[in-house]
Amino acid sequence: MTNRGNNSKITSLLLDWYGKEGRDLPWRETTDPYKIWISEIILQQTRVVQGRDYYFRFIEKFPNVKSLANAEEDEVLKLWQGLGYYTRARNVHAAAKQVMDSFNGIFPSAYSDIISLKGIGEYTAAAIASIAFNEPYAVVDGNVFRVVARLFGITLSIHSSEGKKMIKEIAQSLLNREDPGRYNQAVMDFGALICTPAQPKCMACVLQDHCMAFAGNRVGELPVNDRKISIRNRYFHYFHIQHNGNTFLQKRNGSDIWKNLFEFPLIETPEPADFTLLEKTEPFRQLFHGLSSISIDHRLAIRHQLTHQAIHTLFYRIIIPGNIPYNPPGEIFKIENEQLSEYPVSRLIHKYLEII
Ligand code: SF4
Repeated sequence: MTNRGNNSKITSLLLDWYGKEGRDLPWRETTDPYKIWISEIILQQTRVVQGRDYYFRFIEKFPNVKSLANAEEDEVLKLWQGLGYYTRARNVHAAAKQVMDSFNGIFPSAYSDIISLKGIGEYTAAAIASIAFNEPYAVVDGNVFRVVARLFGITLSIHSSEGKKMIKEIAQSLLNREDPGRYNQAVMDFGALICTPAQPKCMACVLQDHCMAFAGNRVGELPVNDRKISIRNRYFHYFHIQHNGNTFLQKRNGSDIWKNLFEFPLIETPEPADFTLLEKTEPFRQLFHGLSSISIDHRLAIRHQLTHQAIHTLFYRIIIPGNIPYNPPGEIFKIENEQLSEYPVSRLIHKYLEII
């Protein structure tokens, strides 16, 4: 059994379904490539309900590529706070500058130019090119891999080069060339609403008669995903130090997670460590140099999951009495407690601040 001859039927059923059941999303009212780009980047690894508010706030603050390019990076990161995956924010900022410098401030319309922008991969370039410029590029993301693998009964791993190639070819052959943008949005919605990863709504599916996975009772087995993600465990100990109405922060740098975001002084240990063990470390001695004793005002444990890392975190709030001088070491600097909300921080620290 093959579906190859049925491609145009599948496409037309998908478009009909989209006309009746497609999601009413705010960024669908525009063909402005800037707004489509921002919405697509926000929606990577973010649910629509959460992304919607961020999209509105972002577009209000930076209504066009020029305003974004002219912003300070801290402003962009602050607006992104809570969404996670901050590389996305740094990339949109860098790409906006690229548009100003290399394309005279006009968002490029050719796929090859769009994909040359920082942080824009094949999926986002296809979405922008098709929705804003009617270019015939099919989007291929996790949704599309799943839908195509099930419809066409593909048993190759979606991480193998043959599997990827086959699915991309089929996705491109399903594209409606008269209205590629509408087709791409239809397939995205179909994957998000009907052919979902768990418990797809097969009984309500307009493509059921054309679905090889359904016919072969193999829906639960497809797509074949044989990649094992290895998770790295990390142990963070944050010190929320307060002294005379001040709080102490440092800026993350290097190539580690959360680059350029702000955080409390941090000690990372290779294994779990309690406070008694921490007190014996050199970073702890340096952090509290000159203080004879430290008392913990509050302690909070939060486990934070990233795609490839589990961050096991202990936050210690330490209040140093005002009559005792405190001079933090190195890059750590002092701000007034009330200023804390002005600094972009990771989702983990954001969570902590919401709780305490
Ligand atoms: Fe997906 Fe089920 Fe429809 Fe097949 S029948 S396309 S598995 S929702």
